Amino acid sequence: MHLDPFELHRPASVEEVVSLSGRLAGQFDYLAGGTDLLPNYKMHLNLRPHLVALEDVPELRGHSLDRLGAMERLADVEQDRGLAAAYPPIGDAVREVATPLVRSSGTVGGNLLVETRCFFFNQSYFWRESLGFCLKADGDRCHVVPQKKKCYATFSGDLAPALMAVEAEVEVAGGEGRRRFPVERLYDVGGDGIHRTTLRPGELLVAVHLPVHSRSRPGAYLKLRVRPSYDFPELGVAASGTMDGTRVQRLRLAIGGAEMAPRRYDAMTDRLVGETLSADRLAAFALEMERSVRPVHNTFLLPDYRKRMVSVYVRRAIERVQAGGAK
Ligand SMILES: Cc1cc2nc3c(=O)[nH]c(=O)nc-3n(C[C@H](O)[C@H](O)[C@H](O)COP(=O)(O)OP(=O)(O)OC[C@H]3O[C@@H](n4cnc5c(N)ncnc54)[C@H](O)[C@@H]3O)c2cc1C
Ligand code: SF4
Repeated sequence: MHLDPFELHRPASVEEVVSLSGRLAGQFDYLAGGTDLLPNYKMHLNLRPHLVALEDVPELRGHSLDRLGAMERLADVEQDRGLAAAYPPIGDAVREVATPLVRSSGTVGGNLLVETRCFFFNQSYFWRESLGFCLKADGDRCHVVPQKKKCYATFSGDLAPALMAVEAEVEVAGGEGRRRFPVERLYDVGGDGIHRTTLRPGELLVAVHLPVHSRSRPGAYLKLRVRPSYDFPELGVAASGTMDGTRVQRLRLAIGGAEMAPRRYDAMTDRLVGETLSADRLAAFALEMERSVRPVHNTFLLPDYRKRMVSVYVRRAIERVQAGGAK
């Protein structure tokens, strides 16, 4: 596998990025750490002739308890013990991404916008050609759900559910200016699965903003994967909340690694507010969650197993909230 030639651009400010993105409309990809994009390019997956490297844009760097820059390396976030204590789901999630080597190049923005995965997609050009390609790259049908004109590739980033659980927001910049909105609105849950986010064409992810109100709130991110040292999530469950004695005061629960987009389940968790969660009540709630998640057969573990694990991981994550975050 080799990288085809592309033209590399190195803007030095957000304004330069935005002007370049207007000029190169539809002909480029942003390059952050490259740990996801470049392997995909080597497999000839949706190549563009231009890459806009974000490395030299100072505004995208740095992190604090209020803000994670889009170009901040995952390894730098991981090493901040204060941040992990303030936002336990983020601390849990970031140290579970890939391997130390990947985390030393991979970034916060790249992780949130990582390409969705499917075993008919993450393959060489020749492998895919032998099957006649698929909707997501070069083809016109889906091998997983052939009766639909939609891509069901799985969203497999670890940070997104954790950031949703702590109620973080993203800041993006584009030709129409800047906007800020909750992380869960970044993903196009009801879309075609190919254009996987709600970003407008060429929009740049600038930063993630962390709210003060969820700081130091107990929580956790729990990840199911085959090889714990390395693999993408087959399921990732994040919970963050506060208890008033034994009663639920506020609970935020998000799930990734199971469907096309990560999701937060406010309508379901809001129904628990004011309730005392006995072991039976928690088990019943976890089962309700299991019923609402529908994995398809396009990752390593079978969908039925991943679905059954939803109730196990939801229960364990909420127990961590009940225990005040203690492991
Ligand atoms: C062996 C291996 C194992 C992995 N395991 C995991 C895992 O367990 N969990 C996990 O979550 N990921 C995993 N990954 C995927 C990936 O390495 C990480 O998600 C990483 O955080 C991606 O960040 P990056 O900076 O390298 O992104 P890049 O590859 O540079 O970019 C990814 C995508 O985001 C877009 N993008 C990047 N930054 C911006 C921005 N600021 N604005 C707009 N668009 C942007 C790019 O155009 C591209 O489409 C793994 C990768 C490898 C190679
Ligand atoms: S879910 Fe279907 S369209 Fe999407 S990558 Fe897999 S085979 Fe292709």
